[in-house]
Amino acid sequence: MSTVQSLSKSPLSGNHWNELASKVLREEDISRSDAVHILESSDEELLDLLAATFRVRRHFFGTTVQLFFLMNAKSGLCPEDCSYCSQSKISEAEIPRYNFLSEPQLLEGARMAAERNSKTYCIVISARGPSERELEAVCRIVPKIKAQFNLNICACLGLLTPQQAQRLAAAGVDKVNHNLNTSRRHYANICSTHTYDERVGTLEACRDAGLALCSGGIIGMGETHEDLVDMAMDLRSMHVESIPVNFLNSIDGTPLQGTSQLNPRDCLRALCMMRFVNPSSELRIAGGREIHLRSMQALGFYAANSIFIGDYLTTKGQLPEEDYSMIRDLGFTLSTGLESGEPPTIAGLTPLEK
Ligand code: SF4
Repeated sequence: MSTVQSLSKSPLSGNHWNELASKVLREEDISRSDAVHILESSDEELLDLLAATFRVRRHFFGTTVQLFFLMNAKSGLCPEDCSYCSQSKISEAEIPRYNFLSEPQLLEGARMAAERNSKTYCIVISARGPSERELEAVCRIVPKIKAQFNLNICACLGLLTPQQAQRLAAAGVDKVNHNLNTSRRHYANICSTHTYDERVGTLEACRDAGLALCSGGIIGMGETHEDLVDMAMDLRSMHVESIPVNFLNSIDGTPLQGTSQLNPRDCLRALCMMRFVNPSSELRIAGGREIHLRSMQALGFYAANSIFIGDYLTTKGQLPEEDYSMIRDLGFTLSTGLESGEPPTIAGLTPLEK
């Protein structure tokens, strides 16, 4: 069911990828067929492709890495049926299920985010959209978090109306996450309770409200290369500032359980394609990083410039110390200004009570 397959073709020369990078650096868009070629390129040319991608990444972001910290503020209670999601109404995954966290719990999460040198604190709820009570709670706590910690706030609350987006912006939310997840064509295969266009509508409402956009996708859900390119191009047309690229963690108890067949080289090619199509967007290696990129995680940083530090919504990430060490070993730096990716003090952190 994997989708990002490596076709055996004769390898293109390093020059080809370099020329493509030069084109992007001249601020010219790459074509759809160029993007598909990246996904279909051979393993033999992977290092050449990565080197060319790194020219683009370095132009916009140098060798910096941004960290994001996720807080699952309401877990496992979603009425939607997204087939990849452990928190959907049709999921039988064994995950924590709890209602909207209290203010002290959300503030404690913000403290952890700041101590881990995350630039952004992502407040996420499992929901079709926020209830009035949840929206109000987010709007109330955001100024408190910002007064105490030097953090950007990204809210991921499901579908939003223009009025809801405006209220979030007025409360000081910087960015809204709402992933396109896959292409418009493939969307109905992964979800029946809302549409791709409803997702686009939320992004447009957020843009109109003056919020920055965080939107990306999940790779490995039975899509074709063309689907991935369609999604990347749609993100480009919306000038999305921040793009999380997830690799399907086919969690037991979800309809997509056991279906993922990605390999690390496919994941790297997908990151390269996303960078070439969206050269100046912050590109994040998101969920599934550890299980799909495995020993090649560090190479992902030649295309992407950010990661989540710590755990994902319902699954564990690797230890923050391992991420700091990977960044330091690459010679890259955290974009918080921390020298040489030196790990911040994280002593005294206590797990959150959920
Ligand atoms: S809307 Fe979000 S939380 Fe709900 S099932 Fe879909 S992905 Fe999961």
